Amino acid sequence: MKVSAPTGAAAARTDSARPRRSGETGLLVAMAVAGIGLGVILGLPLVDGTVHEIHAPGGWTLFLGSVTGLIGTYFALVMVFMASRLPMLERALGRGGVMGWHKNLSILAISFILAHAVLTTMAYAEIAKTGFTHELGVLINTYPDMITAFIALGLMLLIGLVSLPWLRQRLSRENWWLLHLLIYVALVLSFAHELALGPSFVNHPIAQWVWGLAWIGAGVAILTYRIFVPLLRSMRHGLRVAAVEPQANGVTKILLEGQYLEDLPLQGGQFFEWRFLTRGRWWQAHPFSVVDRQEDTLRLMVKPIGDFSTNLAELKVGTHVWFEGPYGNFTVAQRARDRALLIAGGIGVTAVRGLLEDLPRESRPAVVLRVTAKTDVVLLDELERLVNERNGRVYILSGDRTEVDLRTIAGNIKDYRSRDIFISGSPGFVEAVRDVFVQLGVKRRQLHAEPYTI
Ligand SMILES: Cc1cc2nc3c(=O)[nH]c(=O)nc-3n(C[C@H](O)[C@H](O)[C@H](O)COP(=O)(O)OP(=O)(O)OC[C@H]3O[C@@H](n4cnc5c(N)ncnc54)[C@H](O)[C@@H]3O)c2cc1C
Repeated sequence: MKVSAPTGAAAARTDSARPRRSGETGLLVAMAVAGIGLGVILGLPLVDGTVHEIHAPGGWTLFLGSVTGLIGTYFALVMVFMASRLPMLERALGRGGVMGWHKNLSILAISFILAHAVLTTMAYAEIAKTGFTHELGVLINTYPDMITAFIALGLMLLIGLVSLPWLRQRLSRENWWLLHLLIYVALVLSFAHELALGPSFVNHPIAQWVWGLAWIGAGVAILTYRIFVPLLRSMRHGLRVAAVEPQANGVTKILLEGQYLEDLPLQGGQFFEWRFLTRGRWWQAHPFSVVDRQEDTLRLMVKPIGDFSTNLAELKVGTHVWFEGPYGNFTVAQRARDRALLIAGGIGVTAVRGLLEDLPRESRPAVVLRVTAKTDVVLLDELERLVNERNGRVYILSGDRTEVDLRTIAGNIKDYRSRDIFISGSPGFVEAVRDVFVQLGVKRRQLHAEPYTI
């Protein structure tokens, strides 16, 4: 392992704390709304009557079936909001946080909905004094909207199955992504049976209205932020590929040109989901950070990882580009201290480069670049220039995994406790660095991460 000599001037200074960070208010509001929603959902069985029939035959099972169904579909609702790219959520949680919630809520929703189906069938079988499979047939064939509800359950189980790590690893990212969209088909298919049969909704018009409006809200959020806003922005800015330049170490520089770029609400460190409109590629959007924005250009640096990123080196000049975003909270708005420690693993340097430009001149940033070989460092000249302008230092931490101890970072930047710590790179790298600092006693809220999770 080699740690290069620092560039730029060294300095130490006591920091003052800053007021509440951007996104924290949004997070508090989102948590309050979600918490109230969950409270209302859990309160529904108290008014719908199932709780009063607990002691009747099958009563307990029916009650649990009802509660698990309500909780499962509520988690599904919040999961849809998490997928909608609501700016408030993106700012508050960042992409890694939003994706983490989206994934965990999906697992919970599918588990609770499966429990609901099993428990409710068991309860009906107990009440009718028949067997589970016989009652299942009766439910599907005679109750309203149950055929679609069972198709929906089947789709959810299929998604749960292909999301198991051993199966997901065998599917391409694109195929898995297409399959996981079936969850939205499943949610639509199951909706009618909730209103037709759910004890909390039958004869409770207010509950029906609120539930319906909540789902309409989720649908509108998806249409607005996943389709209309990206479409309008893409059309207004008219981005096209202006240059594609292979760099040393296999990375490709992509220059995009367009109009009114100064109007984009873009902060250093943020990224867009990019869609390059060529045959075979237009339907896929992949995230890449903006390295920098000039008057009429945006610059990306792309490392070849899989098919999509590798084939970008063959993009033709003039290709139209659509985009979603900007996204991410790996920005100066997260700072709570004057000074910052920026740590990039490999191509994670792109987000660090963007963020660095927004740091004030007095911030004295310490920038750590983790690479296998020193020649792998991307953007070194401009990083050193930006860091020198801010009286900071750049460290290169090179060597393979067996040689490098990430605790070296803390050993070199001794005042890390008084800095905001920003980490970007592969999810494994981000997690490993985070663990190092947490073990050293750094509070989690001092750590800001942009895992390049896709
Ligand atoms: C917020 C964000 C910002 C990003 N910014 C940039 C950027 O500026 N420049 C850039 O080059 N990339 C960036 N990425 C990563 C980039 O989006 C992916 O590398 C790309 O989408 C991979 O698509 P693919 O089809 O080429 O590879 P895939 O076929 O999807 O992946 C091929 C294989 O590589 C693995 N893999 C994918 N990505 C990574 C990774 N990051 N680290 C380790 N293993 C991985 C996959 O698990 C898979 O096994 C960013 C990602 C995120 C989430």
